[in-house]
Amino acid sequence: MIEVRALRYDYPGRRALDEVTFALPERSITALVGPNGAGKTTLLRCIAALDEPYSGNITVGGIDTQRSPRAVHRLTGYLPDHFGLYGELTARQCLVFAARAHRVRAAEVDARIEEIAAAFGIESWLGRPAGSLSRGQRQRLAMAQAIVHRPRVLLLDEPASGLDPEARHTAAALIRQLGAEGMTVLVSSHILAELETYCSAMLVLSEGRVIEHRALDAPSSKLRRIVVSLLMAAPETDARLPVSEALSWRRLDERRYEASLEGDEQAQAQLLQQLIAAGFPVDEFRVVRDSLEAAYIDAVRKRPMQGAAEAAA
Ligand code: ATP
Repeated sequence: MIEVRALRYDYPGRRALDEVTFALPERSITALVGPNGAGKTTLLRCIAALDEPYSGNITVGGIDTQRSPRAVHRLTGYLPDHFGLYGELTARQCLVFAARAHRVRAAEVDARIEEIAAAFGIESWLGRPAGSLSRGQRQRLAMAQAIVHRPRVLLLDEPASGLDPEARHTAAALIRQLGAEGMTVLVSSHILAELETYCSAMLVLSEGRVIEHRALDAPSSKLRRIVVSLLMAAPETDARLPVSEALSWRRLDERRYEASLEGDEQAQAQLLQQLIAAGFPVDEFRVVRDSLEAAYIDAVRKRPMQGAAEAAA
């Protein structure tokens, strides 16, 4: 649904994106992650056909962003990290404006706004001027504007920023639902634990390059970092626990430890055998997560530069 090939983007004196290549299939929800300044916002703006790359090309639903930016705008919903709202318009008027600007038919606008206001829990303040809303309320309104025209592709730059915990939960559930309904979503955020609740793939950018792109719910063919929770039947010191370059431990209390292990299922089984052979009173041995955070940290530390772009699609 989104294809990016050899994308390069330069700001004056600074290359923000370099040879970025990847493809996102329809109905996927992809976490766009990377350190500050990695190029995430620039990439989202290029895909949204708001900025023109120096070289390379992007297609969204088969439409070239440089040749037909307007057609891409109709297909796409985009929530920028720093968005503007017309402060003197009411929340409802903002939504009407966004809907009409995206060519939602006049007869359908009211029903669409009721539907979206209910989904975002913003019905009670639809009549208030956008300028009088709190930061989180404004964030919710901006996100509602981004999807009011039912885009096929949704690009979200830091959507959880400023939201209270309940609103974050609602937003996450909504994004999950949009994905289930067939939308292709690319979402940038630094809150990895949250992304992991609804993303099916991870795209990691670092210094303008893709350093990892892989599915999150399917085990990677490469070695991955996993976290194992270990409960001992009796108190144990960590002095005897095996350590290596691929294995480190964190003591949670005198009976509980967490291992960070790089490897596959066989490596997990070997670790368990090793612990039992060494006489540890293992009461529980459990993989607690193959987390996005673990995978991200792994990717950023290793920074492989080749072949990453093709890995996930
Ligand atoms: P963050 O996580 O901090 O939001 P990001 O991954 O979204 O960062 P970008 O905002 O895309 O990163 O910036 C990528 C690079 O381009 C950075 O080095 C940044 O300093 C630079 N950059 C961004 N906007 C401009 C600009 N208008 N002029 C010059 N350089 C810019």
